[in-house]
Amino acid sequence: MIAPLSRSYADARAAFLDAAATAGARIESFAHPRVGMDGEALYVDAAEVGPADADHVVIVVSGTHGVEGYLGSALQRHHLETYDTDREGGPAIVFVHALNPYGFSWVRRVNEDNVDLNRNFVDWSQPTPTNDGYADLADLLVPHDWSPETQEQTLLGLMGKMEELGLEQLQQIVSGGQYDHPTGVFYGGTGPTWSNEWLRSFVARRLDGVTKAAIVDLHTGLGPWGHGELISSEVPSNDTFARQQAWWGDVISMMDDASVSASLEGDWLGAASDFAPDTEITGVAIEYGTVDPITVLQSLRADAVLHGHGDPTADDAVAVREQVRAAFLDDDPAWLGACLPRYHAVVTAAVEHLA
Ligand SMILES: [Zn+2]
Repeated sequence: MIAPLSRSYADARAAFLDAAATAGARIESFAHPRVGMDGEALYVDAAEVGPADADHVVIVVSGTHGVEGYLGSALQRHHLETYDTDREGGPAIVFVHALNPYGFSWVRRVNEDNVDLNRNFVDWSQPTPTNDGYADLADLLVPHDWSPETQEQTLLGLMGKMEELGLEQLQQIVSGGQYDHPTGVFYGGTGPTWSNEWLRSFVARRLDGVTKAAIVDLHTGLGPWGHGELISSEVPSNDTFARQQAWWGDVISMMDDASVSASLEGDWLGAASDFAPDTEITGVAIEYGTVDPITVLQSLRADAVLHGHGDPTADDAVAVREQVRAAFLDDDPAWLGACLPRYHAVVTAAVEHLA
């Protein structure tokens, strides 16, 4: 049995650290510069089991998209609670807890800068990717208030756009990433975020001298309820994609139209081989489905309006956080039960390939 999802970042963190300590993990905590919603200190925590000098390493990351970390945290904790500490040999397994702790605490997908971390790992020495269609939609997606009238008007406007452009094209423009509207959705930022810098340096340091590594990044909010789609950042023609397929089976490239995800630039798994160029990295995102895409988008719009134009500390902000939570997580134990086998299969395959 997997424990229920935590209700706050602080509770999730405490439970994770407790499970890590019980498993005898080596724990490092990295303080984030901001505090959380309740004034609590924020950290990215790394807990590691298995031989410290292992030649091969598995890294499991939760909370790239803040709120989605409530599931990732529960899966990591469950893994630590059931980890076989008698296991001989490698690989080492590193659990990175709450890569975006600010979003985790505030029940947001984005970070302290309203940035989607998976649009932030672009090459900042180059001009940012363009998304010509977004400007036209910006005010419809994130209006200046969230009154029932505004919601109705903007939703009608978006429906009109969907008829004009088609669902797929609209999804690409909305969620493909944009760099010009700081209060908008799927915003990539103006430079590397704190979590970006931290992750780069952590992975570079941890994988220094490591020949092979697997990375599993845990997400929610896309696809059928409880299903864990395996998403690759690689194009289907390259060797890394072939290896991902060989390890995990039905991996879908986000560059492929069949994926539940929009094609995008700036996701961190796609950039991970740059952090540790001498390590052969095989990475995958597990994307667990919750509710339908319109419900998810509505929650992100409400959240963006609240943080861009409203008062996130006001009493009525609680309802928006509940809306976001319900779009990205399901507290029904049946959902957790449905998510667990895919996690187990993916991590077990990674461990076996690196043993
Ligand atoms: Zn995500």
